[in-house]
Amino acid sequence: MQPLGAIEQHGPHLPLSTDTVIATAVAEAAIDAYGDEVDAWLLPTLQYTKSNEHAWSPGTIWLSADTLLSVLDDIGRCIATTPAERLVFFNGHGGNSALANVAIREVRLAHGLRTFLAHPGVPPDQGGTSPANELGMGVHGGTDETSIMLHLAPELVRMELAERRVPEKIAMNQYVRFGGRVSFGWLSNDFNPDGYVGDPTHATAELGKELFDGAVRAFGEALREIAVFDFGR
Ligand SMILES: [Zn+2]
Repeated sequence: MQPLGAIEQHGPHLPLSTDTVIATAVAEAAIDAYGDEVDAWLLPTLQYTKSNEHAWSPGTIWLSADTLLSVLDDIGRCIATTPAERLVFFNGHGGNSALANVAIREVRLAHGLRTFLAHPGVPPDQGGTSPANELGMGVHGGTDETSIMLHLAPELVRMELAERRVPEKIAMNQYVRFGGRVSFGWLSNDFNPDGYVGDPTHATAELGKELFDGAVRAFGEALREIAVFDFGR
């Protein structure tokens, strides 16, 4: 299993390492609980990934789409030399998802591995949900992500800097919205100069623990299916 994190701005209230912290913690907990049963092995988290929606923000370190696709292909090439037959990308950063979906097919074709893409939580711009106070718009640094960080690493969260940043006008659209039938290209400072989208003011460590435990359980159960997945031919 290859966790994918990010080093990218998450607003003033969360650290650059947010996606790395969450992807790594969920992956480690899932491996602890389910790894022996499904014979899964954890690779070190890839921390630099495709974060160019935050290219405007100092501190964000991002790979281009071409570079990340090449890196994921290289990882697949190396794993294919081991007895492992399956490779799971465990992606903690929504900005990687479209590319990671491309990569699982490229790696399957080039290296013959059975490939999979899983997430600690599905973000609203990819069909996931977001609390009602965010109107389904909590894609970056919002209630859920901030809550998980309050649970995992409260010393890295500055709640006194958290404010509500919900794009109300887009939330009123039927089609052109996160998770709608029409996607739109966006940069995180398109919405507001602070570069986060959601409502971290509702975040709590209790909700974070609930979301974290749920993510570990869901991923562990998914690993059981991944371990025996075949195409049924
Ligand atoms: Zn994030």
